[in-house]
Amino acid sequence: MSAKFDIFNFISLLKSVLKEDGKIPLHEPLFAGKEWKYVKDCLDTGWVSSAGKYVNEFDFKLEQYTGIKHSIAVVNGTAALHICLKLAGVRQGDEVLVPALTFVATANAVVYCGAIPHFIDIEVKSLGVDPVKLYDYLKEIAVIKNDICFNKQTMRPIKAVIAMHTFGHPVDLEPLLEVCKKYKLELIEDAAEALGSYYKNRHVGSYGRLSAVSFNGNKIITTGGGGAILTNDTELAKMARHLITTAKVPHPWAFIHDQVGYNYRMPNINAALGCAQIEQIDRFIANKRALAEKYCKTFSNVHGIRFFTEPEYARSNYWLNTLIIDEEYKEMRDLLLSETNKQGISTRPSWELMNKLEMYKDCPRMDLSIAENLGQRIINIPSSAYLGE
Ligand SMILES: *Cc1c(COP(=O)(O)O)cnc(C)c1O
Repeated sequence: MSAKFDIFNFISLLKSVLKEDGKIPLHEPLFAGKEWKYVKDCLDTGWVSSAGKYVNEFDFKLEQYTGIKHSIAVVNGTAALHICLKLAGVRQGDEVLVPALTFVATANAVVYCGAIPHFIDIEVKSLGVDPVKLYDYLKEIAVIKNDICFNKQTMRPIKAVIAMHTFGHPVDLEPLLEVCKKYKLELIEDAAEALGSYYKNRHVGSYGRLSAVSFNGNKIITTGGGGAILTNDTELAKMARHLITTAKVPHPWAFIHDQVGYNYRMPNINAALGCAQIEQIDRFIANKRALAEKYCKTFSNVHGIRFFTEPEYARSNYWLNTLIIDEEYKEMRDLLLSETNKQGISTRPSWELMNKLEMYKDCPRMDLSIAENLGQRIINIPSSAYLGE
């Protein structure tokens, strides 16, 4: 028997999973390990800035955890994306394919390189880039000359595709990689939300040559603010380290810089927090998956709304739990959002589509009907790891 879907039972169903009264944030960090010990150690020893043992240790732990050869910790996920794009050769006047449904940082990082975001559609099963639709689109608008993909309409080179793993759910990477190969595009993974997510048993971030993760306060683990560049390519890792260290030529005392670099290194004190956090990631993800299962069960018999589950090829970290309202009820979304928030249960819609934002409204784009449709039907619900304990 399926329950009727209305605002009252929606809130009571949510509450039955959350089992807590009072304010429930969308995503709160949990400090239940050695955070105090490691951060205190930074203060006691005076190593708080952009050098120190915790930075190396954190990179090492990330490499171990993801199975990706090189991690380069940086100040935030946006900076990580910026460096990935730079190293992929994205230059002034290039185009980069970016999903319309993403956090604004994905598109911003493209513009930091002087390039133009070109918005592409997503698919229902992953909420990320649709490789088939992209392929059909490129057949129509792209031409390859001297191994470079050009947009026939703008005559600009299309250099790369950014695959963003929405709410931690992996994009269908294998078919996407085939499209990239055919059209000479670099695949960059925006895995900001996807630490601990796997595509066919391999950690995401290892399918593109370069990928970015984030450790912002609301992500799966946090360093306060922070991010990392991940790559299996030793040469690229070296170049990344150089670029984030103001392109300083190593020397015992002289300050010589061989290009315009960036001050993007992660400070030791943030890395100390990160070390303590990543030691607990298995527990965080087990709790988050348990929470997702509870939500899934609770909403499984409710007519008019469904809980979004990981695609069949993936094992997701369930960073942000997601409900999708059926087409016929989508006008209820704002009421659900306002009522839940009024009662202290934090919920939110997905981001405004990139092509709707003032600064990106004139960028090239393909048909975005799926993103436009889903964008009106998504609700993110409380997802902190401790809720799944
Ligand atoms: C969080 C996030 C980023 C940026 O990370 P910051 O560390 O906040 O700079 C980029 N892309 C996506 C999809 C994100 O969710």
